[in-house]
Amino acid sequence: MGRGVAYSTTEAAHLLNVRAEGMSAWAGEANHFANRFAAEGGTPRGFAQRRFFAVYLGEMLSDAVATGRIELAEATAVSAVRDGAGWRIGFEDGRSFEARALVLAVGNQEPEGLGAFAGVGRRFVRNPWGDDARAAVADLAEGGRPALIVGTGLTMVDLVLSLDAAGYQGRIVALSRRGLIPRAHADFDAAPTEKNELPDGLRSMFRWLRRRSAEVGWRAAVDSLRPYSHHLWQSLTLDEQRRFLRHARPWWDVHRHRIAPEVAATVAAMIGAGRLEIVAGKIALASETPAGVEVEYRRRGSTGSRTETFAYVFNCTGPLHSVTRSKDPLLRSLLDAGQVRPDRLGIGVDVDGTCRAGEHLWAMGPLTKGRYWEIIAVPDIREQAAAVAEDIARELGK
Ligand SMILES: Cc1cc2nc3c(=O)[nH]c(=O)nc-3n(C[C@H](O)[C@H](O)[C@H](O)COP(=O)(O)OP(=O)(O)OC[C@H]3O[C@@H](n4cnc5c(N)ncnc54)[C@H](O)[C@@H]3O)c2cc1C
Repeated sequence: MGRGVAYSTTEAAHLLNVRAEGMSAWAGEANHFANRFAAEGGTPRGFAQRRFFAVYLGEMLSDAVATGRIELAEATAVSAVRDGAGWRIGFEDGRSFEARALVLAVGNQEPEGLGAFAGVGRRFVRNPWGDDARAAVADLAEGGRPALIVGTGLTMVDLVLSLDAAGYQGRIVALSRRGLIPRAHADFDAAPTEKNELPDGLRSMFRWLRRRSAEVGWRAAVDSLRPYSHHLWQSLTLDEQRRFLRHARPWWDVHRHRIAPEVAATVAAMIGAGRLEIVAGKIALASETPAGVEVEYRRRGSTGSRTETFAYVFNCTGPLHSVTRSKDPLLRSLLDAGQVRPDRLGIGVDVDGTCRAGEHLWAMGPLTKGRYWEIIAVPDIREQAAAVAEDIARELGK
């Protein structure tokens, strides 16, 4: 309970991508996690294992349950309908639950398939976080045959670490349009920015970032925008937000969502040893053959193509990007009934400034990225959680 995709990993190699000092679950108690990590010998600037963060979350959840004010139900919610002034939530096992308020905190949505691999069976692993992916990693570790990863972001890094930890010595090709991979955390002197110095509009934001990076280093420049990220995102026009998602996002993601230095070192060593090749390019064709998945891909800027056979292809392009295609039954039921609407970009659900998606209905976390964009990691979500809790108390206390 409470672990989600991110913290249910059992692998030691999977580290948090935020320093311990940034991972407190509580808004206003900055050192809460760092202190817990210190009790295990960790340092505030260190990167804990994600499975340890799960222990931390579990401890707080147990404390909350022990108060008697929280009841956990192990079930999949499949429907939510308005019932008088509240909600009736239906569970997959036939039970139901009545509530005055409903909060959607369903996290990231599973990725869809990739068009080029529509004709490929089990050798195409659509969901890199599921059991199929774990079975494929074990199979690869045994046979050592080549693997293709589509996507070169944080999910690719996770999978590469899993393969390495499983003892896989074969060749991995990781491919994305631009071939950008997450940059490493490193110490730097912070260079805070005043609100009146902020860039205005998408074009000037990237000009500003280039100039500021030259002055104070790119890490300090990117991080100086963090306190204003919601304001900046909301000040962009719809067209600018779309252009950001289409063109600037890969660049932003690799600089903003950085990986622990030790993880970066493992990835670099694997690249250096020829075990991992990062390719900027496009898949042209893919088909299943008795030998595996035959993939023709084109490198960016090259006219020719290359064809290789891989034992498995993993979809590491990240969470589903279009909320209307979500398969989450609860979300589906609410969308289909018009109780929640997609946001104007279609990447999450439409919420107002207090995260309300409807009457007595709140949404949090990645579901609200259309409004906030930077709302997928703990440092942002904990602030949102505190604000939503206060708003619910205000509303229900009426
Ligand atoms: C691999 C990975 C690594 C990450 N690493 C970090 C990190 O190091 N630091 C960081 O700050 N952030 C990290 N993140 C971001 C992460 O998404 C957030 O930190 C956080 O987990 C989001 O919390 P959440 O509660 O919104 O969603 P989740 O943690 O995804 O939780 C959603 C929960 O809702 C449940 N659920 C969904 N639908 C239903 C339904 N219909 N009925 C019942 N239950 C349902 C799910 O089973 C799950 O338990 C990572 C994300 C991923 C995917």
